[in-house]
Amino acid sequence: MKKQYFLLLSILLFPLTLLSQPTLDYYLPADVTYNSDIPTPAEVVGHEVGEWHITHDKLVQYMYAVAESSDRVTIHEYARTYENRPLLLLAITTPENHANIDQIKEHHHRLTDPDQSGDLDPETMPVIVNLGYSVHGNEASGSNASMLSAYYYTAAQGPEIDELLENAVILIDPSLNPDGLNRFASWVNMHKSKTTVTDPASREFNEVWPNGRTNHYWFDLNRDWMPVVHPESRGRIQMYHEWRPNVLTDHHEMGTNATYFFQPGVPSRTHPLTPQINQDLTAAIGEYHADILDEEQRLYYTKERFDDFYYGKGSTYPDVFGTIGILFEQASARGHAQESIHGVVEFPFAVKNQFLTSLSTVNASLDLRADLHDYRRSFYRDVMEEASNLNTRAIVVGDAHDRGKNYHLADLLSFHNIEMYELATDLQADGQDFKEGRALVIPTNQTEYKFIESLFEERTEFTDSLFYDVSTWTMHSAFNMDFAELSSNQFSSDLMGNRITAPDMPEGSVIGGQSEYAYVFEWDEYYAPRTLYRLQDLGLKTKVATHFFEVMTDEGPKEFTYGAILVPVGIQDLSSGEIYDAIRASAQTDGVDIYNVERGLALSGVDLGSPSMISLDKPSVAILAGRGISNLEVGEIWHQLDQRYEIPLTIIDKQRVNSVDLSRYNTLIMTNGWYGDLSGQAESSIKDWVRDGGTLILQRSAIEWARSEELIDVKNKEAEEIEQPENLPYADMQNLRGAQVVGGSIFNGVLDITHPLGYGYRSESINIFRNSTRFLEKSENPFATPLYVHEDNPLASGYISDENLDEIGNTASIIVSSNGSGRIISFVDNPNFRAFWYGNNKLFANALFFGDTIHSASTN
Ligand SMILES: [Zn+2]
Repeated sequence: MKKQYFLLLSILLFPLTLLSQPTLDYYLPADVTYNSDIPTPAEVVGHEVGEWHITHDKLVQYMYAVAESSDRVTIHEYARTYENRPLLLLAITTPENHANIDQIKEHHHRLTDPDQSGDLDPETMPVIVNLGYSVHGNEASGSNASMLSAYYYTAAQGPEIDELLENAVILIDPSLNPDGLNRFASWVNMHKSKTTVTDPASREFNEVWPNGRTNHYWFDLNRDWMPVVHPESRGRIQMYHEWRPNVLTDHHEMGTNATYFFQPGVPSRTHPLTPQINQDLTAAIGEYHADILDEEQRLYYTKERFDDFYYGKGSTYPDVFGTIGILFEQASARGHAQESIHGVVEFPFAVKNQFLTSLSTVNASLDLRADLHDYRRSFYRDVMEEASNLNTRAIVVGDAHDRGKNYHLADLLSFHNIEMYELATDLQADGQDFKEGRALVIPTNQTEYKFIESLFEERTEFTDSLFYDVSTWTMHSAFNMDFAELSSNQFSSDLMGNRITAPDMPEGSVIGGQSEYAYVFEWDEYYAPRTLYRLQDLGLKTKVATHFFEVMTDEGPKEFTYGAILVPVGIQDLSSGEIYDAIRASAQTDGVDIYNVERGLALSGVDLGSPSMISLDKPSVAILAGRGISNLEVGEIWHQLDQRYEIPLTIIDKQRVNSVDLSRYNTLIMTNGWYGDLSGQAESSIKDWVRDGGTLILQRSAIEWARSEELIDVKNKEAEEIEQPENLPYADMQNLRGAQVVGGSIFNGVLDITHPLGYGYRSESINIFRNSTRFLEKSENPFATPLYVHEDNPLASGYISDENLDEIGNTASIIVSSNGSGRIISFVDNPNFRAFWYGNNKLFANALFFGDTIHSASTN
C-alpha cells in the first residue's frame, strides 16, 4: 500500500505535470508575437493540439486554412494514398522568395553540377529544410506537431522570423502516411476517457491487428524510399528531387519507456557510401537539438541503436544525394497519456519535443546554410570526379524474356533521377546475352552515380555486424536479371538507344490475329499470371505445358518451353470472337505476346492435345491473418494479388477459421506468424481440407506450425557445435548475439526450371533473399526441393556470420510435401519481400497456379 502511494506521488510530482488541457502557449516560444489573421489549430479543428489525436481530414483542413491565410505559404497536393487521402507539401518563406521560387530551386539543382556550381554564392542562397512527420501512423506526435510548425512559421512576427524566412524555405510534409495516421487516430480517440486513464493495460494503448504503423496494404513506408512501390513514396520522391532540400527530417516514436533520440546514429553502421562530412554536419545540427532539449530538461541520446545504412529509409535516402537526413525518435504515449518508468508520458509532451527539434533543425540549418550548400557542391564534385575516372563505363541490366520486369526496373530508377537508355543492339557481355530493347544501359559517368553504386553493388565486407534493417538490396538480384559492367573496351555509345525518362508499361500483341484453334503464351512475362487469371475468370479452360513443344506461328516455327499456357478455342463456352477480344485486351494490358496457333500437331515436342498439357483450375485463395501473424507478409501477398495480378484474396481472421467453409478455396496461405492459438477444430478443418486436395502455401515460421501438426515432415539442419569461450564480457553480449542474426542478405539459389514451381525461369541460378536463420535440410525425395541454396558459393551479397555461412549451403529454400491428395508448399524465404523482389514473385505465382498439378511421387 505504502509503495503504491509513493508510486502515485512520484507520478504526480514528476516535472511533466499532467495538463488537463494543453494550450497553444504550452508549445510555442513565449517571446514572440503572432499574427492574429492566421488561424490557430483549435480555431480550425475544434480542439487544442494534443487534446485529441488529429484525424487526417482535420489535419488537411488546417493546412489549407493556414495556406489560404498567408502569402508566406503555398500548398501542393503531391499524391493520394490508396484510401484516397491527399499527401501535402507546404512551402513557407517570404512572399519575395515565393516570387523567385523557380530560381531558388534552379540554384539548388545547379549545386549538383560541378560545371555550373562554381559561381554560386552559398552565402546568398536560402537553405531548404524539409520537415517530415510520422511515416509510421501510430507514431503520431510528429503529425500533430506539424500543425505547430505550420502555425509558428506562418504566424510568428518580428525581425528574427523575417530574417529566417528570407534565408530559408521550410517545407512541411504533415503526414507521410495518412492512411496509417487515420487508422491510429480513430483507435486512440475512440478509447479516450473523460477521466484520464494512464494504465498501460488499457485497450487505448494496445491497437488491434493490424496497427496504424503501416499504410493501406500494411507496408512499412519507411522502407519504401528506394523501391518506390507505393503512391505515398512515389509522390514524395518526386517532391524530393524537385526541391533538393539541404536537410530532411523524419520524426518517429519508439517505446514508451524510452527517452528521445536524434541522429547521428551508430557511427560504424553508417553506409560506407555516405561521406563522413554528412555525419559531421548531422552532429553539428545535433548540438542545436541538445541545446533546445536541455533547456526543457528533456533526456535524450545519440549514436546508439539506430543507424544510417539502408537507403530505403527516410533519414538515410537523402544522405546519398548530398542532403542531411535526420531521424528523430520520441518515447511514445501510444495514446493520450501512458505511465512509463519516467512518469506519465503525455501526448502533448511528445508533440512538444517533436516541435522543439523542428525549431532546432530549422535554426541550425539557417546558421549552417553556407556549409550545407558547400557540402552539396563538394559532394557532387567528388562524385563526378570519381565517376569520370571509373573503369566501368556503363551498367547493362535486363531480362530478355520479360518486358514487365524491365519496365518495373526502369520505373524505379526513373524516380531517382537516373539517366538510362534502351539497349540499342544485341550484346554479349560477361558470358550473358542481352537483347536489343530488352535491357537498360546506365552510364556510370552521371550525377547520381553514388546511388547507382548503392543499387548495384554486391557487398560482403562490413565494419559492423549489426544492422537495423537489411544489409543489402542489389537490384539485379532482386529483379533476377542479367547484369554486366562494361569497361571502356566493351562500351560504345552505339549501345545507347532511346533515353528513358518516364517509362510506360509495354503492350503485348496477338501474333497471327484471331485463332479458330488455340492461343499459346510463354510464362516468362511478369504479368503472365494476371493474363492467365483474367482468362480463367472468364470461364476459359486453360492448360500448362510440362514439356517443350515447337509449333508454327505467324512468325514461323516457335519453340515454347515449360510453363507455356495453352488456351484451346474449340472446347470453350465462349465464341472464338469473344475469346479473341479477351486475348487481345490481355496482351495489350499485361505486356504479354500471345500466339495464334492453328494446328494441333507440333513440329517437335508434344502436341497440343498431349496429356503433358495439364488442365488448370482457377485459384480461389484465402490467407490467414490476425494477431501474432506478420501483417507485413500478409500485406505483401495482398498487394501482389490485388494490385498486380488482380486476383481477389480473402483475408480470414485466424479466430474465424472454425466458422468458414474452407471448401470454397483451393489455395490457403499461412505466412510467418504464431498459430498456437488455432483451436483444435480449426486445425482439423485445415488438415481435412489439405487431405481433400487443397494447396497449402506456408511461408517461413508457418512451416514450423505445419510440422508440429504433422502435416509435413521437414527437418532442421543440425547445427555444428560452435566452440564457445568459457567467459565473455557482459558488455559485448548484445553485439555478439546480434552478429548471429541474418537481418537480410542475398544468397545464390539453384532452381529446377523443369519443376512447376520453376516455370517462367530460364536459368537455374537465381538469387534469393533471406532474413532468418531457418536452415532446412533438403528433402530425401530428389524431386521435392525445387529451390535450394548453392552448396559451395552460398552468399551473393550482404552480411552473414561465418558460423551461419557454414550452415546455409545446400539447405532448402522451397520444399513440396503432400498429405492425402493435397499439396503443401513450404517457402523458407519470402518470395514477395517488400514488393520489390520482382525476381522471386513468379515462384509464388507458380505455387498459386500450378501447386495442385505437382505429381505426388515428386513430393516429400
Ligand atoms: Zn517509426
